[in-house]
Amino acid sequence: MSHAFHQRGGCQCGAIRYTLTERPRAVYCCHCIECQRQSSSAFGISVRVRRAALSVEGETAKFNKTSGDRLTICEFCPHCGSRLFHNRPAHEDLLTIKGGTFDDTSWLKPVGHIWLKSKQAWVLIPEDGLRFDAQPDDYDVLSVRYAEQWGPPGRE
Ligand SMILES: [Zn+2]
Ligand SMILES: [Zn+2]
Repeated sequence: MSHAFHQRGGCQCGAIRYTLTERPRAVYCCHCIECQRQSSSAFGISVRVRRAALSVEGETAKFNKTSGDRLTICEFCPHCGSRLFHNRPAHEDLLTIKGGTFDDTSWLKPVGHIWLKSKQAWVLIPEDGLRFDAQPDDYDVLSVRYAEQWGPPGRE
């Protein structure tokens, strides 16, 4: 029955490749203005993982973004510019993968949507997902829901 969790992904040109060997803490969509600008699309898909469960081949370039008192370290491919990861030094053991960079995106099942107050008007939000007008006070709510629906972070 058991099947080891193993997902690969990478940038658009292939210079950066990664392997995730553990089910994420949470998958959710972020509709903030930063994610819209960064993705040049309607929203970002955030796949929150333990950093220790991710291995990266290739050297990413880094860009530090400060919003108010929050520092976000953003990693992207220096050749093609694809954004791949970001993390906050305050949560050093965690990292967020941009969901659209996985080779197979069919397993991504968002449990919630954040920053709905800036979502594009035509985007319809499923009724059963968690909803936040802005930044959640605590991301654990998303992790708890994700674990309830798809199982706790783990290798199976
Ligand atoms: Zn690239
Ligand atoms: Zn965002």
